Amino acid sequence: MKLKNHRIEGIDYRPAKLIGGIITPEIIILHDTAGRLEKFNSRDYLASSPAVSVQFVVERDGTVSQLVPTNRRAAHAGQSSYHGRSGCNDFAIGIEIVNPGRMQRGAGGAVLAWWGQDFGPGGQIGGYTLADVETPEHGKGTWMAYTPEQIAAVEELAQALFAGIPTLRDITTHWYVSPGRKVDTNPLFPLEAIRARVLGRDDPAEASAEAGSDVVGGDEFVQIETPGTTLNLRRWPSFNPNILAAIPDQAIVPVNREGLFGGRRWLNVTFGGLTGWIVATYAAPAGTDAAPRSAAMSMFFSSAISC
Ligand SMILES: [Zn+2]
Repeated sequence: MKLKNHRIEGIDYRPAKLIGGIITPEIIILHDTAGRLEKFNSRDYLASSPAVSVQFVVERDGTVSQLVPTNRRAAHAGQSSYHGRSGCNDFAIGIEIVNPGRMQRGAGGAVLAWWGQDFGPGGQIGGYTLADVETPEHGKGTWMAYTPEQIAAVEELAQALFAGIPTLRDITTHWYVSPGRKVDTNPLFPLEAIRARVLGRDDPAEASAEAGSDVVGGDEFVQIETPGTTLNLRRWPSFNPNILAAIPDQAIVPVNREGLFGGRRWLNVTFGGLTGWIVATYAAPAGTDAAPRSAAMSMFFSSAISC
């Protein structure tokens, strides 16, 4: 994909009814359509609505349509704020991903979308990957996994937008800019994997974590102490959905940085080739010459989650 004159070349362009004034995009906001899955159903609605619009829509099969040029305002985020700046539509590009949004379990194994369609195993189509997940940001729900084609298309689109728009600096979600009001994208979306691949070392959250912490010298190690469970390695020192890996109890890891964030002491450590943050409460000093245990490496993808 390539951006030219505020349009991605070679994809379907359906100008929305609602196209606003000129903007300078600084962030990408990802959304779920929270609507039917049939191809172009949500796109055609968003193109013809007098109330809402968006720059891009990504179908279940990965097809991308553009509805608004990237330098023009679309109406997708509503009441929102990003790092203290409100009205995100004035500086954001919206991408809607086709997904039913929060669903609920019904009688007889049914998994019901808000409009009543059953996506459960006994539903009309079935075969969807569904999961019951609860997060502080989303609350409880049954959610549908995004297709590999959708995830690949979102990443490719984001790469093309970052390559073509030098003012872009972050990728975020509707739940992040409208907390308590919106839950899209759903908890199954691999946000951090995409942020890591597109933003790389320029991740603004990573830069602020670096600025708020100090380098730990002298080859310090700590030992993880989470009896019976694991400790999450996080991309930034916060409890947002940003988990990189689960570190097993008793693993010994080198410490790179330390800092106080939100009143808690966090350590930046390296585990399994990944660098990220852990809560210091669950790590005990392990001297300066310890070597990470090989057993810890083989338990890298543990499923238990804590903190
Ligand atoms: Zn949304």
